[in-house]
Amino acid sequence: MQKERVVIIGSGPAGLTAALYTGRAMLNPVVIAGSQLGGQVAITADVDNYPGFPEGVTGPELVQKMAEHAEKFGARIVMDEVTEVDFLHGSPFRVKTYEQEFLADSVIVTIGARARRLGIPGEEENIGTGTSYCGTCDGFFFRGMDITVVGGGDSAIEEAIFLTKFATSVNIVHRRDELRAGKQLQERAFRNPKIRFTWDSALEEIIATDDPTVSPKITAVRIKNLKTGAETTDATRGVFIFIGHDPNSEVFKGQLASNDSGYVLTDELMRTNVEGIFAAGEIQDEVWRQVATSVGQGTSAAMSAIQWLSAREGDLQPLGELSAEEVAATQPQASTN
Ligand code: NAP
Repeated sequence: MQKERVVIIGSGPAGLTAALYTGRAMLNPVVIAGSQLGGQVAITADVDNYPGFPEGVTGPELVQKMAEHAEKFGARIVMDEVTEVDFLHGSPFRVKTYEQEFLADSVIVTIGARARRLGIPGEEENIGTGTSYCGTCDGFFFRGMDITVVGGGDSAIEEAIFLTKFATSVNIVHRRDELRAGKQLQERAFRNPKIRFTWDSALEEIIATDDPTVSPKITAVRIKNLKTGAETTDATRGVFIFIGHDPNSEVFKGQLASNDSGYVLTDELMRTNVEGIFAAGEIQDEVWRQVATSVGQGTSAAMSAIQWLSAREGDLQPLGELSAEEVAATQPQASTN
């Protein structure tokens, strides 16, 4: 088993920023990147709102640069997924992946959240070419176009209103005949001349062209009225889906305190309820979900971890490959399992 000072779980902007900061503090962090380096940003076509890139930057390019930057300062990126953790027996903590197991004096959890999918034909295939889960990220690309928004909560209505800055019209398709969103937001949406509603309805299919000269690729959606069963085809160029997010916190269940929706709870220093475990980015941020906010939170989490480790410098056990006896000595309770 490999003993580390810091293990960072997740490789989105929060994780790679935490890796940069802990790397520059000579802590030689390990980043367990998951199956895709960069997480959700890696599937974002263009990032137009990250400071320092006035021409915009593609999600994959931004992630690559962040990873290179962290590696330059000693971060080691492992393409593997965490399958199990033991945070209950205190530091050093156990982090198990498909391929290996780590003992870590501290852990920074940045494993993110995932936008809920509708699971309909044409949705997944058009991510980045017309299907989107983020108005702030992608709205700009739909200037002068008719678009569709799915959902009736605060996110859907707030984003639909935001998207009217760019789109010619926004059709909000909601599965019921009343919105879940707060009254004030609702009223703003009802007053907005660019917004119309398709009630009691669900998207059945997203239709796109395979003409390589056309961008975005979506041309229409098939909508079903859930009360009458009637189906219609509505011309549209973009489909924005806001039906909630799910934090990727299943692996920490019962170990890190979370709210009812599963988001890990942190204080203002990004500390979780377990001393030595920090969290940053969308795993603990239900509200903003921006690259820039995740970078800030990753910085805070790293600085808190650095400070926490530095206060315990004399007590920390050696690093490197540990024998079974050494592992048992570091964590007698856990090692007897
Ligand atoms: P949400 O409140 O859970 O709303 C999700 C919406 O998507 C609901 O209208 C729901 O329909 C619909 N939906 C869920 N699954 C669906 C499916 N499979 N097919 C079609 N529609 C589906 O999620 P959210 O809007 O992302 O908000 C999350 C939290 O953040 C909430 O607490 C919200 O108040 C908060 N938030 C606040 C603000 C703000 O205050 N400005 C802004 C954004 C978010 P039903 O209504 O029929 O269930």
